[in-house]
Amino acid sequence: LMHLTRKLIEIRSMLLSIDQSDALKLPSIVVVGSQSSGKSSVLEAIVGHEFLPKGNNMVTRRPIELTLIHTPAKPGETAVEYGEFPALGLGKMTDFSDIQKTLTDLNLAVPASECVSNDPIDLRIYSPNVPDLTLIDLPGYVQISSLDQPETLKEKISSLCDRYIREPNIILAVCAADVDLANSPALRASRKVDPLGLRTIGVITKMDLVPPDQGASILAGNRYPLHLGYVGVVAKSHGKKVKRDNTAVVAQRGENDYFGAHKEIFNAGSLMVGTDTLRRRLMDVLESSMASSLHGITNAVQLELEEATYQFKVQYNDRRVTAESYVAETMDALKLRFKESMTQFRRPAIRAKLKAMLDDKVMDVLEQLYWLDKRSPELGTLAQDARISPEDVEPYWRHKLDAASSLLTKSGVGRDSTLLVADGLRSLIDSMAAGEPFNFHPRAAERLVQFSHMILRDRVGVTSDQVENCIKPYKYEVEVDDREWENGRQASIDLFQREVVMCETKLKDIRKKVGGSRRLGNLVSYVQSLEEKEKAKKAKRLSAPDVEAEAEPEEQTPESYRYPPAQILDARHAMLYTDRLSILRLRLAALKSKRCKAGPENDVLCPEAFLNVVADKLAYTSAMFINIELLDQFFYQFPREIDSRLLYDLDRSEIVEFARENPAVRRHLDLQERKDKLEEVMKQLNSLSTLRTDAQPAPRRH
Ligand code: GDP
Repeated sequence: LMHLTRKLIEIRSMLLSIDQSDALKLPSIVVVGSQSSGKSSVLEAIVGHEFLPKGNNMVTRRPIELTLIHTPAKPGETAVEYGEFPALGLGKMTDFSDIQKTLTDLNLAVPASECVSNDPIDLRIYSPNVPDLTLIDLPGYVQISSLDQPETLKEKISSLCDRYIREPNIILAVCAADVDLANSPALRASRKVDPLGLRTIGVITKMDLVPPDQGASILAGNRYPLHLGYVGVVAKSHGKKVKRDNTAVVAQRGENDYFGAHKEIFNAGSLMVGTDTLRRRLMDVLESSMASSLHGITNAVQLELEEATYQFKVQYNDRRVTAESYVAETMDALKLRFKESMTQFRRPAIRAKLKAMLDDKVMDVLEQLYWLDKRSPELGTLAQDARISPEDVEPYWRHKLDAASSLLTKSGVGRDSTLLVADGLRSLIDSMAAGEPFNFHPRAAERLVQFSHMILRDRVGVTSDQVENCIKPYKYEVEVDDREWENGRQASIDLFQREVVMCETKLKDIRKKVGGSRRLGNLVSYVQSLEEKEKAKKAKRLSAPDVEAEAEPEEQTPESYRYPPAQILDARHAMLYTDRLSILRLRLAALKSKRCKAGPENDVLCPEAFLNVVADKLAYTSAMFINIELLDQFFYQFPREIDSRLLYDLDRSEIVEFARENPAVRRHLDLQERKDKLEEVMKQLNSLSTLRTDAQPAPRRH
């Protein structure tokens, strides 16, 4: 039957790890008593070692879940006694003063402002001298609030004790013999939850401090009867210290001496005295309490297991996950997603992106060199004039074209195109890091972003140099064949037509905004007149700077306030768009002229077509080298970095932590774990009942 308690103690701690609800609790012995009642001394006497925190100010601030495991010495070996804090992973502690120190530290770690904490400390003690028992040591009741103990401490401790003395636990109420039982807070609390005293054992300490017959009458329990009775002890543990490990032995000898000396009194009433008696009493009580809980707990576990199994089926279709499999799947999905996204970085796509960027550059160059040039309309006329051969065109326009081409090729194409692609990669990675499931894993997301940016940083310099190198020839000469010319011309026409539409839309918007074309017309002529005046003023100022001061007040006519500044700005924009439209239309006509159609020998007259071809060649070359130097490298390195940096040196607990960051996975893991544990507990409970029926065969019926 020893075996049963032992097994049930194991089952009890498994159940505790499943959930904290009362439904799934096997009984434990809860030790309550007021401060200085001798609670620690009793526990230490049971264990046979001094291991609890001591000191006047040292109140136990956290419950200690003390599990005693009887471990007989193997034949031919000396028994080892040791303690373990499973939650701390400190390993076996054979020196009980280390256990005492650890408990002290754990207690002191509770901030003084909180006084006590509900979070129990799990301590296991293995020894041949202990019975299989679970005991919960609670902070002692405070009798008198003192100055250095806050008012709330008293209530906090009471409510903590109240939580633990509920069913099905057994209450070990520690009272000192020299204090009236009527004043024992432990007995008072126990009577509230267990009025008949069915699950309360009284322990009367300090029996040596009262006359033996008075002690005996307390143990007889006539005043406050308890079904499980009272046990008297003498458990003074800090007597003369011979050696630390001998203190318990010394204490027990003192106890034996005391009860031996008063044998006639205590034996007469067959009273329970001594630590050995207490130990045996506790074992018996715990065992029978556990045994009677067995049926109920088996049913409760069965119900919980059915529910968990059902939920697991319904919610997850019995699909199991592990933290490891989640991590592996997440990384595979990331790599796959990356691979799929890389299709947008195929060469034609990149080339088109770069071309669009270069088209913008071409527009800027055109604007700067041609559209702002007052002579540019001449170029349009020349293009339409069939009599003029290319050689007749003024060298002015040849220089213009050379300047435009070199402005374009020397505009930092290597750097700009590389950065364009690198930015695309960067925002791809950033969006993967921000999306599911990495939104649940902020630290992994940060690492992901970090190492991708690092790869990019490493490659960008090399790539942009390489691209710049490879487009170098175009800085000096660009050969254009007929087909390229025609493509360039068409592309320019498309581009210009789009630009025309854009300008028209903008103009339309402005017209709508200011209230019709009439009003816009008025606005524009007003702004033009303002500009005229401004010009005249400037001219005057230049010719006669001294007059300026006098001229100033004259300007303040109400006229300048006729339109709000926002509308004046609109008018200026409208003028810009109108100017641009007229240039675009002129140039479109030129591009569509016979001259331009004829071929690349007319490049001087159709700079747009020529520059477009140059832009196309630049885009082609850039795309090729960006592909080799940046994209291929990135594509190669990224998945490897995922393996080495995202998963690198994650140990088991970090993998679990990572997986549990995802709420869906956490719920899945929790339910699965709960189900597994319940299954295990159920198995153990079932094996117990066969064990019990084996041990006690049912009476045969005739
Ligand atoms: P706790 O605060 O309830 O844990 O009480 P302790 O176990 O620390 O004991 C309080 C004081 O009572 C200590 O000084 C102990 O030495 C003393 N004490 C405990 N048990 C006995 C006992 O059986 N006899 C005597 N004379 N003193 C005891």
